Amino acid sequence: MSYVDRVIDEVKAKNAHEPEFIQAVTEVLTSLKPVIDANPQYEKAALLERIVEPERAIIFRVPWVDDTGVVHVNRAFRVQFNSCLGPYKGGIRLHPSVNLGIIKFLGFEQTFKNSLTTLPMGGGKGGSDFDPKGKSDNEIMRFCQSFMTELCKHIGADTDVPAGDIGTGAREIGYMFGQYKRIRNVWEGVLTGKGLSYGGSLARTEATGYGLVYFVQEHLTCHNDSFAGKTVVVSGSGNVATYAVQKAQQLGATVVTMSDSSGWVYDPNGINLAVMKQVKEVERARISEYAARVEGVKYFAGRGVWSIPCDIAMPCATQNELFIDDARQLVANGCKIVAEGANMPTTLEATEYLIESGLVFCPGKASNAGGVATSGLEMSQNSGRLSWSFEEVEEKLKGIMKNIYHAADDAAKLYGFEGNLVVGANIAGFKKLADAMLAQGIV
Ligand code: NDP
Repeated sequence: MSYVDRVIDEVKAKNAHEPEFIQAVTEVLTSLKPVIDANPQYEKAALLERIVEPERAIIFRVPWVDDTGVVHVNRAFRVQFNSCLGPYKGGIRLHPSVNLGIIKFLGFEQTFKNSLTTLPMGGGKGGSDFDPKGKSDNEIMRFCQSFMTELCKHIGADTDVPAGDIGTGAREIGYMFGQYKRIRNVWEGVLTGKGLSYGGSLARTEATGYGLVYFVQEHLTCHNDSFAGKTVVVSGSGNVATYAVQKAQQLGATVVTMSDSSGWVYDPNGINLAVMKQVKEVERARISEYAARVEGVKYFAGRGVWSIPCDIAMPCATQNELFIDDARQLVANGCKIVAEGANMPTTLEATEYLIESGLVFCPGKASNAGGVATSGLEMSQNSGRLSWSFEEVEEKLKGIMKNIYHAADDAAKLYGFEGNLVVGANIAGFKKLADAMLAQGIV
């Protein structure tokens, strides 16, 4: 049995109740086989066994009181996966589905993603099974304060720098930052995604969605093509989806779908982003409200955006939202590119089918790395007490996304997998990490 297969089996046995973590590890390690086989020193140093085990996982309770005086207790996590390349870095997810396995899968992916950005950031992730939907501002604040009261013992600007993710936007980051500062009595860049008035970076809000589009644009440019005139389908209507739609539209594409956890809309004239932002960002309402306000739009309950014919599909909602049947439909409808804005939105089976069918598949750990990369830029600005202009940050983001695209593309070519950006991204992220881990000894 090969070293890779042995480690995958061990991960399955040890983490049997964590399907998303097993899925992420299987995908990454399988694609690394050519590099692992060519480098026996990795097995000697038990490198893979160490890479799949978080350095530390913290689980804690978050008690808070709602507006009617009822006490609630949520479970929260911070998984500090790998600090070889820099302080742990990764978002905080607030969603009822959050459990240890999901946070571990996200932290594992984050480690490779952060390596790909070439910025000095390790990998981590956190979150809680708290559901922000339907909560008042005061309830959100009390939850965030209680959450940070424990978390602040484990993080710091040079230790671990969390950020936003599903359910954690500028409002939540603000409450968490205030509580951190109050308890620790130190103003430092301990969180990214902060408001502009207290150390946030311009363009951080837009960064993941814009970065995703820049990644695809680089591929198109290298093949004498562009976004102009393309039909694009997008899932999600949160931070990543919104700004992916905005940038794709700026570059001349027509984006015809968006979704939320209740349903999706088909707008053949192209999404009116001003109305969508009002509904989802300002009113925090259901996406059906968009259909009620814009003429010619159809609303469908449940899932289904992948049934609409398109040139480019960008899943930007959550993990495992694009299945094999969806992949078949995309291929049958002539889709040419699938670019992941979310983390692991495409199942393993669907990913393999899309690649075998000759589509260009852009894996999230490369194509959605613009968010964490800009968080890295926010950390640099905080350390230097600097504030760069929007254009300056966007230009750096564009450069980083171009570099990530070419790092993945070149690595794929080097190992005989031309055009396979999944293999390329995993190898490029892994090599830097592996070199650093070997250099730092058995730790
Ligand atoms: P948001 O909370 O802003 O938006 C999430 C969107 O996805 C919402 O429209 C939400 O619907 C929908 N959604 C969430 N869960 C489900 C579900 N189980 N089924 C269907 N729809 C769902 O999150 P982000 O936009 O920040 O994150 C989206 C994805 O991108 C995640 O996978 C995240 O890990 C990844 N990502 C985010 C980065 C960032 O910078 N924010 C960076 C890199 C990756 P509803 O409105 O109903 O809740």
